[in-house]
Amino acid sequence: MKKVIFALFLILFVICGVFSQTPELYLIGGSANFDNDIVIEAGFLQYIQVMDNLAGANNIQIKVQQSFRRAGGQITSNIVPPADRSCHLVGHAIDVNLVYNGVWYNSSNMTVANWDNLPQAIKNFIIGCENAGMRWGGRFSQIDPVHFDSGININNRTWYDRWYAGIQQLYVRDYAYEPHK
Ligand SMILES: [Zn+2]
Repeated sequence: MKKVIFALFLILFVICGVFSQTPELYLIGGSANFDNDIVIEAGFLQYIQVMDNLAGANNIQIKVQQSFRRAGGQITSNIVPPADRSCHLVGHAIDVNLVYNGVWYNSSNMTVANWDNLPQAIKNFIIGCENAGMRWGGRFSQIDPVHFDSGININNRTWYDRWYAGIQQLYVRDYAYEPHK
């Protein structure tokens, strides 16, 4: 009986752990390395800090294309995630162009196909992001070289599906009308 009670507590503990990661959205600005304010979920902040550090260390300017993405249609407490579960929709992705030494790196040249022609600084940035645990869209089957995300849509689908609607609602309430990319 004791073992059963212990097992039940353990299960409860694990379930609470999964669900207690209540989302928060942040409007982030003020870094010299990012050209625009962004909106991200709290769990993505560590990766933005990695990108910021890598940009600073490699003399790269980050030109933000898009961070948070609002879902289409009416946002209610029971909207369901789309099939692709984009990380942008929960604040766990960012699309960027990089500028190094006056040259602009974007979806046409920041690619695996063009890897050998990229300056070491740009390679350092991409590899540094991946080493920190991020996914780079340049390696997706449908390549998306400007895209970096946390992979939470794959690594923790329970969290994604649990909080998707709530995060979209938070965004509409707090940040939809704040200037940002
Ligand atoms: Zn993207």
